[in-house]
Amino acid sequence: MIRRRNLFWIALLTFCLFSVIITACGKEDSSASGQHTSHNSHETLVETASAKELPDFLSKYTPRTRELYAKADEHEELLKMLNCYCGCMDYAEDAHTSLYRCYIQGKQDGKITWTDHATQCGICTNEVKDAVDMKNKGMSNEDIVKAIDKAYKGI
Ligand SMILES: [Zn+2]
Repeated sequence: MIRRRNLFWIALLTFCLFSVIITACGKEDSSASGQHTSHNSHETLVETASAKELPDFLSKYTPRTRELYAKADEHEELLKMLNCYCGCMDYAEDAHTSLYRCYIQGKQDGKITWTDHATQCGICTNEVKDAVDMKNKGMSNEDIVKAIDKAYKGI
């Protein structure tokens, strides 16, 4: 009887050990950097814990691009009023609703989902640069929308 009982405990212990190993591997697989990445047909989406943490994919691009991504979040209200003229607002699927969407797909519970769309788009980046410059000069959001429309419409 004693032997059988020992065997039972050994089996249970082995089972537990295996479970721990499997769980540990699963955790490691989910994400090395703590950023959640997913792909769809034309963009890479990366979720970070807050807007202060920029997505990893920016390390492949220039400091200017990195800075513009930070500005996109800083000027959320303005960017949501601006049209993007790179063609993304005419997509048949998942068309962008504003220039903001070229940088940030959305926010939920403080977490932010970035898209790499603007990293490959001169129009998306130039529009933000121009808009932020105008904002810094003291222009109103409404006037900036008009100026951007005038400069980029029909490009
Ligand atoms: Zn765009």
